[in-house]
Amino acid sequence: MADLKPTVLVIEDEPPLQRFLRVTLEAQSFKVIEATSGENGLRHAATAQPDLVVLDLGLPDMDGVEVTRRLREWTAIPIIIVSARGKEQDKVVALDAGADDYLTKPFGVGELLARVRVALRHLAAANRDTGDPIFEARGLRVDLSRREVTIDGNAVHLTPNEFKLLTVLVKNAGKVLTHRQLLKEVWGPGSAEETHYLRVYMNQLRQKLEGDATRPQLLLTEPGVGYRLLDQ
Ligand code: CA
Repeated sequence: MADLKPTVLVIEDEPPLQRFLRVTLEAQSFKVIEATSGENGLRHAATAQPDLVVLDLGLPDMDGVEVTRRLREWTAIPIIIVSARGKEQDKVVALDAGADDYLTKPFGVGELLARVRVALRHLAAANRDTGDPIFEARGLRVDLSRREVTIDGNAVHLTPNEFKLLTVLVKNAGKVLTHRQLLKEVWGPGSAEETHYLRVYMNQLRQKLEGDATRPQLLLTEPGVGYRLLDQ
């Protein structure tokens, strides 16, 4: 890791949070580039070619969602949103615009680094272009090529739609997926508003995969936003 020194572009206008992000990331041997406005951030993203962007939604010159859209016009670089609590809809819009994940302020060092690791892992997997077809976490094992699912070694039978939903979650393990993203992937673009499908199928998956479906340990609900499959 130290040799590679991934570069993180932090686009954030609040000095205390800027400092927190810089200190935390530099302590993990990341190289940190800072921008305090959207325009400045977009310019740095193009010239410095960072490996990851940490992006505040409330910037002085433009919304972080707009920054996300403009980055997505030309790059697949991971984007982690940092946003104040109580703005679920903003986060959903940013995720739908192409952000990879979000953190709600205030957040801790552990949470930040976990999200950064997930995002960089996804980038590495995308660059390899051949994802590992076997996923394992917390007793769950999913072999995507053989379409086999086991819990603690016991085979689990899934319906085609349940398997499709699980496949999308596995391919994005560790990341939050919005309701709209999941619905589009599993049921098609015309179904983006049918959140009740998702609730029904997520409940079925939990019944089959979780020890206690009312206290999920794997398929977590991100309130107001979507779902996340834990990857470790
Ligand atoms: Ca701000």
